[in-house]
Amino acid sequence: MRIILFGAPGVGKGTQAKILSSKLNIPHISTGDILRSAIDKKTPLGIEAKRLMDKGELVPDTIMFGIIRGTLEEEQSKNGFILDGFPRTVAQAKELDKLLNELNISQKKIVAITANEDEIIKRLTNRRACKNCKQIFTLDEIKYSDVCPNCNAKDSFYQRSDDKEEVIKKRLEVFNSTTKPVLDYYNENDKVIYVDGIGKVEEISQSILQNLEVSFEK
Ligand SMILES: [Zn+2]
Repeated sequence: MRIILFGAPGVGKGTQAKILSSKLNIPHISTGDILRSAIDKKTPLGIEAKRLMDKGELVPDTIMFGIIRGTLEEEQSKNGFILDGFPRTVAQAKELDKLLNELNISQKKIVAITANEDEIIKRLTNRRACKNCKQIFTLDEIKYSDVCPNCNAKDSFYQRSDDKEEVIKKRLEVFNSTTKPVLDYYNENDKVIYVDGIGKVEEISQSILQNLEVSFEK
């Protein structure tokens, strides 16, 4: 199964990608990870990407597509994959369609994990991290204590800047203005599967899997 996974900030997209990857036995291709790996392995595209990044420039689509193509052509991607973090623009979505066609991949599933924005803000502003062990907790979990349940550090909780309301609102704004048009594009040809991302992690994965099977039978 070929899945392109989308998710608003704070809906646990990465966690779901890992669960789906293990349940469906297909690789989780995070574009951030494969870019880092190309740089670490010093592939020609990785070297070029690093050169640009060191200058503070963005990695252009041509390089990203080269790296994605290489990963999709690997043996482990032959039976399917979960693409995570890409495409981010309609232009990239169109280009990706071309690439998938060239690779003779016609079937794909578009999954979008969604959540009400107030819920996301509530959920993320409710998080605290431990300075010492970096573990993240909800306020409920540490309500009666100033000792970290994981590493026993005292008074080590703080709110990460990523979990502050203004930062979350900005990320949601960016997500809405860039990702919504991409989903609209996919909705023209492929039916986007929307799954509510608020709830227990296992329930959300179950819901995604059920939805994938339903659309499988069509
Ligand atoms: Zn800790």
